[in-house]
Amino acid sequence: MSDELRSIGHWIGGTPDPGASGRTAPVFDPARGVQTAEVALASTAEVDAVVAVARQAARTWNTTPLSRRTTMLFRLRELIDANRGRVAAAITAEHGKVLSDAEGEVARGLECVEFACGIPQLLKGAFNAEVSTGVDVHTLLQPVGVVAGITPFNFPAMVPLWMLSNALACGNAFILKPSEKDPSASLVLAELIAEAGFPEGVFNVVQGDVEAVNALLAHPGVDAVSFVGSTPIARQVYETGTTAGKRVQALGGAKNHMVVLPDADLDAAADAAINAGYGSAGERCMAISVIVAVGGVADPLVDAIQRRIPEVVIGPGDQADSMMGPLVTREHRDKVAAYVAGAEAEGARVVVDGSAAPEGDGFYFGCALLDDVKPGMRAYDDEIFGPVLSVVRVDSYDDAVALVNANPYGNGVAIFTRDGGAARRFEREVTVGMIGVNVPIPVPVAWQSFGGWKASIFGDAPIYGPEGVRFYTRPKVVTSRWPDPSTSRIDLGFPTHD
Ligand code: NAD
Repeated sequence: MSDELRSIGHWIGGTPDPGASGRTAPVFDPARGVQTAEVALASTAEVDAVVAVARQAARTWNTTPLSRRTTMLFRLRELIDANRGRVAAAITAEHGKVLSDAEGEVARGLECVEFACGIPQLLKGAFNAEVSTGVDVHTLLQPVGVVAGITPFNFPAMVPLWMLSNALACGNAFILKPSEKDPSASLVLAELIAEAGFPEGVFNVVQGDVEAVNALLAHPGVDAVSFVGSTPIARQVYETGTTAGKRVQALGGAKNHMVVLPDADLDAAADAAINAGYGSAGERCMAISVIVAVGGVADPLVDAIQRRIPEVVIGPGDQADSMMGPLVTREHRDKVAAYVAGAEAEGARVVVDGSAAPEGDGFYFGCALLDDVKPGMRAYDDEIFGPVLSVVRVDSYDDAVALVNANPYGNGVAIFTRDGGAARRFEREVTVGMIGVNVPIPVPVAWQSFGGWKASIFGDAPIYGPEGVRFYTRPKVVTSRWPDPSTSRIDLGFPTHD
């Protein structure tokens, strides 16, 4: 290992741990194209050790009074707020997204901590008095135990906060397995969680790759798994985890369409397409990647998007005027470029080819715009996860809905129109989990829940918000009767309420 490279390790039992497997992965500064660190990759034995630490911590954490847990969550909220810049800088240095975008990510993650601060209200359960003579029934919501969170590279702070806020608030111990591409933000969060007063071992970070994930999925000491990442891995994690008897939620990839009806405000739609297609270099699971242009709107819309593309300033994420940074790795940049390079041969029209990107070794790709794209072409069928907008032209509203509904993914979708009736029909007819009406990136607020349909989710458990509390707790229903000599008698019949 070169002397200049930082070593990134785990966070176990309240302290940093350098790791001992001898296996590492390189971490890059994508804006400059240079390796800056090596991250430890946990062995199965190291995962076993961290699960033991978490199980031990869970025993006392789940009986820690709600008022004390809530105090810690409020402190964590203040600490993350005060350290927004530090978390954002860690994200930008390894992911590449621009600092303002990274700060936005932290702000949306912080919302989830704020929601979890209301946990006493959320864990109230339910009570019925006198369901039968002298008999009461109440529900207890207990933590599931030890939760593993496996997270993608594109939101290295927000997605962990989607999970850990509710998981810890509900009384579980949590093991985070971040993406090996940008592992540092998880360690900043770990420090803040420790500073907020959470007991040692309640929150742990285990860095790693497929070996660590497989070890977590196989370990009997892990009770539940929250996964967010690509569809093939989400499917595999869901199948392996549930076969091992765990509760699993697995959110996958996306291909989000933006339907533009002929009556839409054209400028607003073109601005929205630019922002939602090229923001974060298209590396968002809720990014718009397909514009569905209905009827005569296609020509003026393509023209309006094309005219705006030169306004997008591409550069290092830590440079104040940059609007779009590089892609996360060289391999990913090359893969995105290959979709654009191959589009013409498949019959699409390359309007803007993405070549307008900064010179140098950074993993840049410029904004690209493809027109006349159709299902069956790779640019339509695959999740590109880069700054590439594909325009599909259709004749009618019904054709647009049929296209969206035939797509195997169902994460997000947007409709741009001035027609309230069409928008209302669209809400009801599309087979997609999150819908924007003149809103291109409809990520629900933290007190709703987030989740797609179809190949964008495996299992039926959306993440964060009330669904998050449900996922991280197990209900028990208690039926009780206290001795009352006046009602006691022998009766061998099945208990009914008569
Ligand atoms: P990924 O699936 O490659 O990796 C996600 C996690 O799984 C990482 O922690 C990674 O280390 C681990 N992993 C990778 N390969 C594995 C394997 N073979 N076995 C076990 N574990 C493995 O995803 P990514 O490239 O990091 O993230 C981008 C993807 O995540 C996109 O598809 C995007 O749409 C999706 N995403 C979805 C949502 C959502 O809420 N639906 C949110 C963010 C990102």
